[in-house]
Amino acid sequence: MTEPARRYGASPERLGLPVVAAERRRTSRPPRHLADLDPAGRRAAVAELGERDFRASQLATHYFGRFERDPAAMTDLPEAARARLAAALLPTLLTAVREQSCDGGATRKALWRLHDGALVESVLMRYPDRTTVCVSSQAGCGMACPFCATGQAGLTRSLSTAEIVDQVVWFAGAAARSGDRLSHVVFMGMGEPLANYARVVEAVRRLTVPPPDGLGLSQRHITVSTAGLVPAMHRLAGEGLPVTLALSLHAPDDELRDELVPVNQRWPVAEVLDAAWAYAARTGRRVSIEYAMIRNVNDQPWRADLLGRLLAGRLAHVNLIPLNPTPGSRWDASPKPVEREFVRRLRIAGVPTTVRDTRGREIDGACGQLAASEVA
Ligand code: SAH
Repeated sequence: MTEPARRYGASPERLGLPVVAAERRRTSRPPRHLADLDPAGRRAAVAELGERDFRASQLATHYFGRFERDPAAMTDLPEAARARLAAALLPTLLTAVREQSCDGGATRKALWRLHDGALVESVLMRYPDRTTVCVSSQAGCGMACPFCATGQAGLTRSLSTAEIVDQVVWFAGAAARSGDRLSHVVFMGMGEPLANYARVVEAVRRLTVPPPDGLGLSQRHITVSTAGLVPAMHRLAGEGLPVTLALSLHAPDDELRDELVPVNQRWPVAEVLDAAWAYAARTGRRVSIEYAMIRNVNDQPWRADLLGRLLAGRLAHVNLIPLNPTPGSRWDASPKPVEREFVRRLRIAGVPTTVRDTRGREIDGACGQLAASEVA
């Protein structure tokens, strides 16, 4: 890596990562939405419109309690009030451009156009014991991990709290209509959640506060995944929101991690793991170490042993992700015997290890494949 790269700070711009200037100019702040506001903020917004206080909880009950996003269906609100409230608090944030499903309908991906034309994707995965939505926190991503499709195009912009929450509410509604209950949310779609810190934390609050103020999901069922922004990891530990933290490690040594996760040049392996252990100590939550298995790149037995030594005795488990090859990438997934040997060595070291399934591959909805390109 070049010397200047070592001096880069945390922001995408300072990381020297691709932020396309033209894209930047075209993006703009999304309109304010009910889901951006806490209950007091909602009451204040309703009062500003000259409406009675209880209208705020009526709206919240529709939106968070019944997953109703369409003001026209909120028929218990008088028509004039409904129009005023909808215009001020329920603007359309996400317009579906495309929906795809696979795995017999158990995996569904949605491509959304945001108010300024930026595109993001979210994925719903139904399992026998849970239903998970994978949300985007940014349009694009500034982390530039070379094996990830989202990383290739750079960052367009961060999403607002409501743009994040609305992805979940949409899928919660879709799940409910098929007799299913959304139980888990993972911030593993497009973007680096901790680079959009305040809005992501606020979104987590909306997702976990009991209805009608929020969706009432369990904090333990929310996973925030990070490339390793150390100061933000420490800050998250102090929020009193014991969500599951996933750390995208992908290499146990700085030489390789500098290449696979470029933000490692700023916060190396030892520092990012220290931040992970501090998070575990503070929250009591086991940290999930994400490791994409890339053939002949990071899958050698010695790297499994080194990883095992780094993690042994810690409140952590390893989640191996078979690499999902992205278009134009020179990398491929590790062969199964190599993967099995890697798992075996980690387990010998006493590190709980699982291999993630590769849901959504056929619809480019698997990990790292979200690129939000629109087919003409
Ligand atoms: N910015 C966050 C969220 C990224 S997506 C982060 O870095 O953690 C969630 C996970 O998918 C991350 O661990 C990411 O490194 C991984 N991932 C990205 N591209 C992948 C690919 N092509 N194959 C497998 N996993 C990938």
